[in-house]
Amino acid sequence: SDFHDLLVIGAGPTGLACAIEAKRAGFSVVLIDKGCLCNSLFHYPAHMTFFTTPELLEIGDMPFSSPNQKPNRNEALEYYRKVAEHYSLDIRQYETVQSVAGSDGHFTVHTLDRFGRAVEHRTRKLVVATGYYDLPNYLGIPGEDLSKVKHYYHEPHPFYGLNVVVIGGKNSAAIAALDLWRHGARVTLVHRGAEMHRHVKYWILPDINNRVKNGEITAHFSTTVEHIAEDTVTLATPEGEKTIPNDFVFALTGYHPDFSFIERLGVKLDAANDRCPVCDPATLESNVPGIYLAGVIVAGERTNEIFIENGRFHGKLIATDLSEKLTPATL
Ligand code: FAD
Repeated sequence: SDFHDLLVIGAGPTGLACAIEAKRAGFSVVLIDKGCLCNSLFHYPAHMTFFTTPELLEIGDMPFSSPNQKPNRNEALEYYRKVAEHYSLDIRQYETVQSVAGSDGHFTVHTLDRFGRAVEHRTRKLVVATGYYDLPNYLGIPGEDLSKVKHYYHEPHPFYGLNVVVIGGKNSAAIAALDLWRHGARVTLVHRGAEMHRHVKYWILPDINNRVKNGEITAHFSTTVEHIAEDTVTLATPEGEKTIPNDFVFALTGYHPDFSFIERLGVKLDAANDRCPVCDPATLESNVPGIYLAGVIVAGERTNEIFIENGRFHGKLIATDLSEKLTPATL
């Protein structure tokens, strides 16, 4: 068991920013992540390009230089590795936080390492920056548990020449449908809305709409998937039920934060406000003294409200509050 001023759960961009700002304020910090450094970014589509220009992804005042107007996943992973190295961050990878005991000033964090062994960490304060990318929004339809149904899209090659259904109408679905089609898959896009969602980026929208107009990608709007079988998918279209041949399904219908984990920490969720965890917006301290929230989870179910661009500022808010409430043990 080790002892820290601050323990940060989640080594995504936000968790890193929190650790850096606390460290700069003189506190001892450890980060714990169930996966690798920036595990969510690592699991993005392999060749994805960010929607954001590089300077808006910067943390710890470290410049992110890229020859591209919008950086790609590889560049971002490289950048966050360099930042972690520059600030000598203590990151425990492949360790999943299970539970937290104790109270402000004396928390014990129980984790399991990748071999299932129990590990304990002691800390005075806690930041929860666990994001939302680990839990897909399931459709709850028969056949969804077949291994051919995926909730994450990585790359197109394995789907060459096959019948692929992409479910969803936002950026992830549009980008995957286009990438699959460009690499030789036969793509059918299924979306419950009457057209692509208004959040689809302005440079992606004409591309997907034109592929659909040209019949290169078959789209079914105002349509839901009723049933997935080994070789087929059955759709409920406005013209009635339709069964089409199918090899793989990408259900790209979003993700959500681990609300039960947050509640198990004693943090209340505001049912009247999209299950936002209860916290002071000025300091991000939750209703549990000593436990702070950071990053995308602060917005509850509104997972498109906070992203890297704005979540990266949460670190400074929390470090300022820590400085008021805590004398660094290391000083
Ligand atoms: P995350 O990056 O999700 O980090 C959370 C970390 O917590 C993860 O590493 C996870 O492994 C870890 N964790 C979770 N539970 C536990 C546990 N119990 N124990 C230990 N560790 C745990 N945003 C932008 O600003 N610009 C963009 O261009 C952009 N493009 C995107 C493209 C895609 C395809 C997607 C899916 C998202 C995109 N986003 C973008 C959104 C952005 O990725 C997220 O908002 C951002 O990752 C949130 O950062 P975070 O640090 O709050 O959470």
